[in-house]
Amino acid sequence: MTISQPIDNEAIRAKYRAEREKRLRPDGNNQYLRLAGTSLAQYIDDPYMPVLEREPVTDHVDVALIGGGFAGLITGARLKEAGVENIRVIDKAGDFGGTWYWNRYPGAQCDTASFVYMPLLEETGHVPTEKYAHGPEILEHSRRIGEQFGLYENVLFHTEVRDLEWDEPRSLWIVRTNRGDEFTAQFITIGTGPLHVPKLPGLEGIDEFEGRAFHTSRWDYEYTGGDPSGALMTKLAGKKVGIIGTGATSVQCVPHLAKACGELYVFKRTPSSVDVRGNGPTDMDWFEREVKEPGWQQKWLESFTANQSMGWRMPKEDLVQDGWTALSRRIRSRIFSLPFYKMTQKNIMAAFEALDNEKMHEIRSRVDEVVDDEETAQNLKAWYRQLCKRPCFHDAYLQAYNEPGTRLVDTDGKGVERVTKKGLVVAGKEYELDCIIYASGFEVGTDQTSRNGFDVTGINGLKLSEAWADGMRSLHGIHVHGFPNMFILGGFQGAALLSNVPHNFTESGLTIAMMIRHAMEKGFKEIEVTQKAQDAWLKLLGRGARNRMAGMLSECTPGYYNNEGQIDSLSGTLTGHPRGPVAFFKYLKKWRNLGKFKGLVFR
Ligand code: NDP
Repeated sequence: MTISQPIDNEAIRAKYRAEREKRLRPDGNNQYLRLAGTSLAQYIDDPYMPVLEREPVTDHVDVALIGGGFAGLITGARLKEAGVENIRVIDKAGDFGGTWYWNRYPGAQCDTASFVYMPLLEETGHVPTEKYAHGPEILEHSRRIGEQFGLYENVLFHTEVRDLEWDEPRSLWIVRTNRGDEFTAQFITIGTGPLHVPKLPGLEGIDEFEGRAFHTSRWDYEYTGGDPSGALMTKLAGKKVGIIGTGATSVQCVPHLAKACGELYVFKRTPSSVDVRGNGPTDMDWFEREVKEPGWQQKWLESFTANQSMGWRMPKEDLVQDGWTALSRRIRSRIFSLPFYKMTQKNIMAAFEALDNEKMHEIRSRVDEVVDDEETAQNLKAWYRQLCKRPCFHDAYLQAYNEPGTRLVDTDGKGVERVTKKGLVVAGKEYELDCIIYASGFEVGTDQTSRNGFDVTGINGLKLSEAWADGMRSLHGIHVHGFPNMFILGGFQGAALLSNVPHNFTESGLTIAMMIRHAMEKGFKEIEVTQKAQDAWLKLLGRGARNRMAGMLSECTPGYYNNEGQIDSLSGTLTGHPRGPVAFFKYLKKWRNLGKFKGLVFR
């Protein structure tokens, strides 16, 4: 699109600052409620599958994988391929799928192209039916991986780990759970995912509401009717429904609610930026002709990551062509258009800002083009830089505000005030509702031990919470000194590829499987990173571009990306390889293929 008037960068900066100031609050993350063990614990109960009675387990496995989402599935599959058979996945859900088990709200969909988002496509032979697959297909794919790789055999579902303790004399981990299990494992992996603990806003009166209320990750289809495939929620006809939140989840489910509810009230504190989605079915002939060849998915993963991350070399080809690669290519093209002699840090950041302002102007203009009511359109415009919050892409969200029964309730950046027996209060006005849906997100910046619900006790009784008291410390984001035979499946201190989280697991899962096979083949009982190797790695990470990124985020409107505006209190260790994900994946591949696993001790 063309911009008729020049953009006043200084005026935009001032507007962004003012909107941020309006939203900053001293309580930061503490504005939210932790639900487990409170009178609100029913909000985290599993509405999808009954919890079945079973006897406690007291046996031994070679590997215990904590978390049955993509992290556990990929690593489990790679372990089985490597011939490690005696493994057990443990998950608090009733089946595999992790985030896709829980998030069954209507419209749930991946927002990175499914050819790179859905793991093990080539191995399973599944071809995603859409460019951005919907939740039921992704959940089914998770089950497919579980079945194909025999991961159901020894699994413990609806089970939460409570404690992991290193048994030094026996070189084993003792795993204790909330179901009375106490079994041993030679190796453990921790892949609990970044967004698995739902949170509610800490609103006065939250337990007093007399209507129906639930969190989006525990959708109550019994009440709403419809199903995860997006069938019309017929039971909401004539009902007054309020949804709190306008993040990525709300963007996906509001169009379905708008079609179903008698009246829908969307309570908005900060709007998301919503760009064009452009989803469509996969052309299977094209897939067979142009894509399918041995190693195609790895090639696509590498193409995505090379296009999406901000390296100096822009790939000629973009196989994936989704919202993320387009976003990065746009930024890089603008920066590379600077004459060589002008390539200073200041000019690069200025070029980035100018481009960002143009993009956000385009996104705000799209709101005016789509939304009929002028006041609603004004209130749906995002006033912050695009990467301050998860960028959203959707072709029915803004349109939903044109449905006659849908109303945006603007809270002027302050949020809902309180809950009453009958509904919600904003600016002193009560909105009477039959149902409240909390699209209020998940814990991110909270302490990992309390979020996971278990601590880890390593050599000499050292707790992981103590070892990480000043922030995460690891080699490759996988190994922690003092915690032998324990592998973390995350991304931080490795590639830290946030736009396509499963790619982190694809690489670390394979690496872990190779290390475990190596130890078992050679008869080693323990694998541990040396203090020296861990320190050297952390020193290398310190040279990263994180400070520049943290600088940008610290000026952003509050949200989980910047620890609710308190990014300085976040540890400086949530970073990645200084030369980005492409360099990290290349390095890790070489490191594991050499078979020496430098920095580790096998004993
Ligand atoms: P978010 O944390 O992104 O959003 C929570 C929302 O609740 C925000 O709009 C927040 O406002 C709002 N909120 C919180 N408290 C109040 C209050 N008192 N009054 C009014 N509003 C309030 O959670 P989501 O579940 O939307 O998304 C979490 C993440 O999950 C995404 O960022 C993404 O990474 C992932 N996701 C991915 C999807 C995909 O397409 N693959 C789809 C859905 C989620 P404010 O912004 O002001 O804090």
